[in-house]
Amino acid sequence: MKKILFASDLDNTLIHSHKHKSDSDICVELYQEREQSFMSPDAVTLFRKMIHQKNICFLPVTTRTIAQYQRIFFPDGYRPEFALTANGHILLRQDVPDPHWLAESKRKNIPYLPEFERLMKLLLQDTRFRHVSFADDMFIACACETPETAVLCLADYQHSTGLQAFRTGRKLYFFQPDADKGSALEKFKSLYPFDIIISAGDSEMDTPMLNHADIPLFRENQTDFAVSVLTCVLETALS
Ligand SMILES: [Mg+2]
Repeated sequence: MKKILFASDLDNTLIHSHKHKSDSDICVELYQEREQSFMSPDAVTLFRKMIHQKNICFLPVTTRTIAQYQRIFFPDGYRPEFALTANGHILLRQDVPDPHWLAESKRKNIPYLPEFERLMKLLLQDTRFRHVSFADDMFIACACETPETAVLCLADYQHSTGLQAFRTGRKLYFFQPDADKGSALEKFKSLYPFDIIISAGDSEMDTPMLNHADIPLFRENQTDFAVSVLTCVLETALS
């Protein structure tokens, strides 16, 4: 049987926020006692099948911080053995950061720390941002009130910094230029070999990861993208 690595983004790929919730959806994240993220019942059924399929390794690859990732409770109390958080800067093994991976990510970030500091000062003074943080000491995450404001903010900052800048919805992210989900996936593959890599994502930040996959799945306009993705993973595993 072929060994499959399913490297997947989470938000808007496998799970979705309350903004896109249907009545029957199942909550998979609570934040400050409020239901935050969901999966459809069909996606949950397929997810359960996937985690019982022995030749599939599910690797969440997310821009969430460790704390944000650990708020997610997957169906049946399942915890993935590995997860790449902070856009690949951190490898969690049984929910604990791998010390070697972390040390290398920190070392690679050192030349960019003055720029992170300079940019943080500017963003913290910019009243268009509601939240600005140096997330997990690895990258800048900030949020505007609306996506429209975030578009304007991205235009203002992206060309005046040597960091990579991305926007998803009303959020902006700044990473050091060599760190992305693709390089993290490459490194993971070199440590843990698989026969087939399936990767799924919905944003520009997922593109480098999809470029390293044998089967890349990018969200277009699918109504339940998680169902399409999980169906493909199961069909590939059983073929
Ligand atoms: Mg996403």
